[in-house]
Amino acid sequence: MSNTHNYDVIIIGSGLGGLSCGAILSKNGYKVCVLEKNKQLGGCLQTFSRDKTIFDSGVHYVGGLAEGQNLYQVFKYLGIMDKLNLKRLDADCFDRIAFNGDPREYKMAQGYEAFVQGLLQDFPGEEKALREYCRMLQYICEKFPLYNLRMGGYDEKEAVLGIDAAEFIDSLTSNKRLTQVLAANNTLYAGVEGKTPMYVHALVLNSYIESSWKCVNGGSQIGKWLARVIMENGGTLLKHKEVKHIVAEGHDVKYVETAKGERFTAKQFISNVHPSNTLDMLEGDSIRHAYRARIKGLENSNSTLMLNAVLKPGYFPHMNYNYYYHDIDDVWGGHVYTDDTWPANYSMFISPNPKDHHFANALSIMAYMNIKEVEPWKDTFNTVSNEASRGADYEAFKKAKAERLLDVVEKRFPVLRQCIQSYYVATPLSFRDYIGTYDGAMYGILKDSTNPLRTFISARTKLSNLFLTGQNLNMHGILGVSMSAVVTCGELLGMEKLLHDIKKA
Ligand SMILES: Cc1cc2nc3c(=O)[nH]c(=O)nc-3n(C[C@H](O)[C@H](O)[C@H](O)COP(=O)(O)OP(=O)(O)OC[C@H]3O[C@@H](n4cnc5c(N)ncnc54)[C@H](O)[C@@H]3O)c2cc1C
Repeated sequence: MSNTHNYDVIIIGSGLGGLSCGAILSKNGYKVCVLEKNKQLGGCLQTFSRDKTIFDSGVHYVGGLAEGQNLYQVFKYLGIMDKLNLKRLDADCFDRIAFNGDPREYKMAQGYEAFVQGLLQDFPGEEKALREYCRMLQYICEKFPLYNLRMGGYDEKEAVLGIDAAEFIDSLTSNKRLTQVLAANNTLYAGVEGKTPMYVHALVLNSYIESSWKCVNGGSQIGKWLARVIMENGGTLLKHKEVKHIVAEGHDVKYVETAKGERFTAKQFISNVHPSNTLDMLEGDSIRHAYRARIKGLENSNSTLMLNAVLKPGYFPHMNYNYYYHDIDDVWGGHVYTDDTWPANYSMFISPNPKDHHFANALSIMAYMNIKEVEPWKDTFNTVSNEASRGADYEAFKKAKAERLLDVVEKRFPVLRQCIQSYYVATPLSFRDYIGTYDGAMYGILKDSTNPLRTFISARTKLSNLFLTGQNLNMHGILGVSMSAVVTCGELLGMEKLLHDIKKA
């Protein structure tokens, strides 16, 4: 088949990055077409339901959404802010931190002063360290112009890129427990000691300290409203269109071709797919070997096992915060596990019962898992559009892992198993098959404080009309990816104009 469709911009992939670019560009008069391989739009924004209960695949909470904050302003510009059904997490605790053998639970509050005062209750002698931590977070965030929706250069942030997160946090105080608490939710960015830069920690934590929100009934609403903006502006969204080839002549992409042989031509192309996969789709010698080698050589962040539990009504009290638990003292060490030590930590996200908010109706519990663990089933593929069993041994593997995880969760919540009606387990293979990355990485390319420039990916490629967007550019997460879309669209629309329009929205 070789039908040809002609657009101003073809966007490969409908993750938040692709949809945001589609919304921005269609609002600005471009005729856009988004090509998505899956049945559902949204990439990590996708939700699914089990036993009539909705689960998120990759959005448990979002920061920066209070009026005047950065993501609020971008979503307002995109025309979706007032459509979203959001619930703010508890003001005095958006994340609760717990450790094996320590009966206390530590609260992270929203707002910098409340954050300091909250932790001072557990660490009364540590005001200096807490204030220095907060100062540094804000100082680093100030150095990132786009994060503050303003123009600025690389030189502003250069000085802070090489600060290592674990090292900086450890330097704040000799109180080990406090440094563990401050770094305890590093699964938010799959932190690696000696590698993850402090700026990653700062940009993520600052947004949650500013304000923390849950999407009521799941994060797919963000994708749904963005898709509507695209359609209202004359754009096209096509599902079940897996792009296989990006075909270039000289320095220009001419068209993309799907698995079914359909061709789509456009003046500009944006890939929301991992840069490494994007390069695999690009045949020929249009991209230099050195660039390919650099991108291919970058390490990805860790993957996860996710246990999604449907709860019996009226059994498990709802907690309007997230829960981070460490079974070992090394809060950065959860990804380096053995059969005996897994799971070394977990994070738990709780959804209220819509009919009775005092109780929870669902839990999602995440614990690091390396794709090597599911190596025996690497040649299977299973999504709702291409359903195929991975086999009874895979189901047994998942059950054993889930029960092991529940054993650890029950150390804190001894009645949990009695509250569970049913549970469903996703592994790195689920993330690989739905999102399209090779290793099911949660957050794409791992940033590196020892060589920060190496892990910066530009929106521009060596091809004149091929751009990149999504979590591998600036940062992962709803905020990071929205900002990456601004960077990508700024290449086409002019950054100054785009930022001006966003600020005046
Ligand atoms: C388990 C998990 C939990 C998370 N929790 C949070 C959270 O609580 N808060 C937060 O802010 N962030 C969270 N994140 C991160 C956040 O969800 C992601 O950073 C963000 O959604 C990624 O968006 P993206 O645009 O980069 O692309 P993706 O969501 O990766 O989407 C890429 C899209 O491209 C499509 N695609 C791939 N290949 C092709 C092809 N060849 N042809 C056509 N289409 C293709 C995919 O199907 C997918 O739709 C979480 C992520 C994970 C995995």
